Amino acid sequence: MKCTICKTGHTHPGITTVTLQRDNTVVVIRDVPAEICEDCGEYYPSDTIARRVYADAEETAHRHVEVEVQRFAA
Ligand SMILES: [Zn+2]
Repeated sequence: MKCTICKTGHTHPGITTVTLQRDNTVVVIRDVPAEICEDCGEYYPSDTIARRVYADAEETAHRHVEVEVQRFAA
């Protein structure tokens, strides 16, 4: 698909690192499958993947961890 951020690049399937902030918690999730823009590097995870990433971040925030690095388990 065409990238909606830079509007010139095209996306290709790949693996990225997603960083999310929730209140005082920063969650870094590695190895997240997503479509990645060849030009600007913007990533587009599928709805299913995005939901799981957000659920993981939510769960981590509830434990009041300040920073956590996770690996996305497919
Ligand atoms: Zn782009």
